[in-house]
Amino acid sequence: LGETKIAVLGAEGVGKSALSVRFITKRFIGEYDQTAENKYKYSTVVDGEQMAFEVLDTRSLNEDCGAREDVLRWADGYVLVYSVICRKSFLMLQETQKKVEEFRKGASIPIVVLGNKSDLAHMRQVTHEEGRTFAESLGCPFIEVSASEDVTNVTEAFHSLCREIVDF
Ligand code: GDP
Ligand code: MG
Repeated sequence: LGETKIAVLGAEGVGKSALSVRFITKRFIGEYDQTAENKYKYSTVVDGEQMAFEVLDTRSLNEDCGAREDVLRWADGYVLVYSVICRKSFLMLQETQKKVEEFRKGASIPIVVLGNKSDLAHMRQVTHEEGRTFAESLGCPFIEVSASEDVTNVTEAFHSLCREIVDF
């Protein structure tokens, strides 16, 4: 089996870099280069199987959420991220999902929807219910996560996408 290619998509500032780095290094740094687009190679055990990943932490420009055609073509699956403290990022993600669907027309698309920054409860603009409803409409997993506070849910999020990719 070759490397499983995962693209992390979402509006600028939602935490794409923080989540990618958290998954791969288990660490949170705080500030990430907004102008960089990073591709990481990482190998880990998922459900007892050794898996090799390539994770593309996209750079979002002009509200494209990183969903450029070359990225959409490259990836086997997509982590769709919004921030629970930014309603606009949730709306932009729904446009991004449509773009992914159009690009992959007809085919089943491995996706996981993540609501990041769940640690900032007092600033919340998107309810858990809204996130869940969106993911349910796509028939994909939904997890609220915090790249800054939590390793377990972030790891689980990438693993659940991996399961989707393997299943398809
Ligand atoms: P990107 O533009 O989507 O790659 O977003 P970044 O990963 O650069 O994160 C943007 C800002 O949000 C940075 O200052 C991060 O430290 C912060 N951030 C990312 N994830 C979280 C989180 O889960 N909780 C909190 N409180 N801050 C976060
Ligand atoms: Mg980034």
